[in-house]
Amino acid sequence: METTATPALGGEPLHTTRSMTVLFAIGFACIAANAFGLLGPLSPALFPALTLAAFMATIVGVRRYDPEVRWPWYTLAFGFALFFAGGIAREATDSLGVLTVHRSLAPDLITIPGYVLVTVGLFGFAKARIRDTVARIDIALDAGVAALAALTVAWLFLLNPAVFTAENVPLQVRLLVAAYVPLSVFLVASTAGLAFAAGGQQLVADKLRLGAMTFLLIGDVIFMLLETQTVAIPKHIVEVPYALAYLSYIASVLHPSMRAQTEPNPVRRSGATVGRVSVIALALAIPGMASVFRLSAPTRDRLVLGGIVLTLTSLAILRLVRALRSNARSEALLTYQSTHDSLTGLPNRVGLHHEIIERIESARASSSMVAVFLCDIDRFKLINDSYGHNFGDAFLEQVGDRLRAGIRPTDVVARIGGDEFVVVLSHLHVESEALELAHRTQQIFATPFTVHGAEIASSVSVGVAIGDPSDVTTTPEALIRDADIAVYQAKDSGRNTAVVFDASMRDRISHRLAVERDLRHALERHELAVHYQPIVDLTSGRVSGFEALLRWSHPTWGQVAPMSFIPVAEDTGLIIDIGAWVLEQACGQLAEWRATLPRSNRLQMSVNLSACQLRDSAIVEQVRRVLVESGLPQDALTLELTESTLMENPAAAAELLNRLKSLGIGLSIDDFGTGYSSLAYLRRFPVDVVKIDRAFVMDLEDEDTSDATLVAAIVAMAGALGIGTVAEGVETMGQARRLTDLGCDLGQGYLYSRPIEAALIPAAINRIEAEARGRLQAVRTEKSA
Ligand code: C2E
Ligand code: CA
Ligand code: CA
Repeated sequence: METTATPALGGEPLHTTRSMTVLFAIGFACIAANAFGLLGPLSPALFPALTLAAFMATIVGVRRYDPEVRWPWYTLAFGFALFFAGGIAREATDSLGVLTVHRSLAPDLITIPGYVLVTVGLFGFAKARIRDTVARIDIALDAGVAALAALTVAWLFLLNPAVFTAENVPLQVRLLVAAYVPLSVFLVASTAGLAFAAGGQQLVADKLRLGAMTFLLIGDVIFMLLETQTVAIPKHIVEVPYALAYLSYIASVLHPSMRAQTEPNPVRRSGATVGRVSVIALALAIPGMASVFRLSAPTRDRLVLGGIVLTLTSLAILRLVRALRSNARSEALLTYQSTHDSLTGLPNRVGLHHEIIERIESARASSSMVAVFLCDIDRFKLINDSYGHNFGDAFLEQVGDRLRAGIRPTDVVARIGGDEFVVVLSHLHVESEALELAHRTQQIFATPFTVHGAEIASSVSVGVAIGDPSDVTTTPEALIRDADIAVYQAKDSGRNTAVVFDASMRDRISHRLAVERDLRHALERHELAVHYQPIVDLTSGRVSGFEALLRWSHPTWGQVAPMSFIPVAEDTGLIIDIGAWVLEQACGQLAEWRATLPRSNRLQMSVNLSACQLRDSAIVEQVRRVLVESGLPQDALTLELTESTLMENPAAAAELLNRLKSLGIGLSIDDFGTGYSSLAYLRRFPVDVVKIDRAFVMDLEDEDTSDATLVAAIVAMAGALGIGTVAEGVETMGQARRLTDLGCDLGQGYLYSRPIEAALIPAAINRIEAEARGRLQAVRTEKSA
């Protein structure tokens, strides 16, 4: 006995299984004892006892496992009740194996209706279990074909010889006892059909019942041979297969999986598979073979065989036709499924392709234009993430419905991805018509959606591509790609808009894609370099440190400006690796200068950090390692972060900055004044320096600009907070002087030096400091004069 119970069937306590095993061991022992004639006077009671047990086990099984559909079980139970009665009758008339003209037919007339009830019961199982009528008929036909094929063979080699050659047995007796075999053949076939047709798990109860039916068939064959006096077998041996049949049956109704025998099962629709067609062909070959064997048979014999053969052939052909038809049906279903989206029922990407081709062709005929709208729902991810996928799906379904209802009857809507819908329009004559219709499509989203009782306001970005059907480059792919580029643009310009594609967009996008592609290999191909821009002490004129600035020299494009590749590196996450490399280079370089240049032990290095580097807490460990490896003191390194980087997630940023700060490094706020322009939040972060943006330094020389006031305010406030200041983009002496007057500590800009490669730095330091000395000298002589 298998003790495993699937969760769906409910776990069975182990002791029940154990007590059942004991019960079955006793049953087996009795059957064996009886077969060897050891039961003595108890022997006649065994068979009725088993049928009664089968009856009761059915009732107990139904009570215990409480199957939803009960009538097939009760029908089965009554079948066994009849078997019980038939058995008693047989004992009473003692007819088994006793061949007289006066042999009582009563036991058989009671038992055969029992078979009918069992058959009806099995029909009930099929009905409860296989809800799909088509599949149910197929299974019945399969079972019928198998049963008839088996019957033909049985007829040839078993029934016919037994029934027609035992001339000394009355014909009605011969016919009656022969009836058992076809009945049990059918029971075996239909039980097998049910057990194997049901998709999903193979139930233990199914296997046990199939075993029971097989034993029953074996018993019936032996019984018939005995009754027709073909063989002589002692009664207690005849009973063995029957007894085993009952035992297996009892086990099947007491097994927990019995419940699932009347529960709906998923079935695979059975098409014309190679296996199935071959089995049917084999079944069809049997009549042919039969006729070979029976060429000289008597007419009566041929009539019976002919009848069986005709029925078998018709059933087999019917089955084949159905199988072929089901193939055609599943093919149609497959085509539909492969061209349609299962959620909204709208055409999918493949279906859309066909739709666009059709419309391009009809537009060519009517010399009009085709337009494709790519509608991308704004912030759909937010809806999906905050309300869950089911909600998101329901929302998308509604979007699909609204779009379908909102378009012109000649147009088509498709869904080609998560939240991407496409509208294809034909019969357009002017381009402005397309944009107008695009705005109408946006209007579809103006009223909020009600999903699962919640009101959802949403908007859509529409990318429009218009195609001239006479142009060979107007293909579905090209239209969708252009609409995709346009929708990208629409999202970029603040969402909830419609943008018509134009070729310049494609250039922008393709350039960006090329940058992205080549940037991936820039590091390993040694195309990247770090340049250094000196930072100068405004009062003493001495170089206090450097800012490390990344440079990319592309083999064909030449120097690529950081502003056009760093955002790409940030979007793609490449900045993580590149940034780590810059950090290593810069620290290694500073360590070298500190070791080789005179009076260099106070030189500092500033390295820029992107927002996504700050999102990854591995940065702390990375900085610590680079410091250790370069041998620099911690305070020689400063990391530069922009205001917007910090404000993206202030709490997380503050946490990470504190951890970085605890390494002992310096932190500075870059491009200060361009973002939030609020000094208040400076207190939230452990900042050492603010870098005043170039925009405020530019106009400093004009006396009455507000920039001067602003710089003064920044310097004053920073001073109060104990924060240092660096002015960026210092280009003129005038600016430098104003900054010094305003109290700014350090300056950086073209006035002193552009960012240059490392090898040029020592000379630059000498020049910058010599110039400063020269100026100081000039000032002193001026004063003394
Ligand atoms: P940033 O951090 O504000 O760097 C200062 C920028 O101003 C540099 O531009 C520098 O060349 C430029 N500059 C310096 N002095 C003057 C001046 O007197 N006049 C003018 N007009 N410009 C001056 P660059 O090198 O083109 O870098 C642009 C931006 O790229 C940097 O702005 C920074 O945000 C980013 N960047 C550069 N290297 C890295 C890096 O290694 N990592 C990260 N994450 N970003 C970097
Ligand atoms: Ca910077
Ligand atoms: Ca800056």
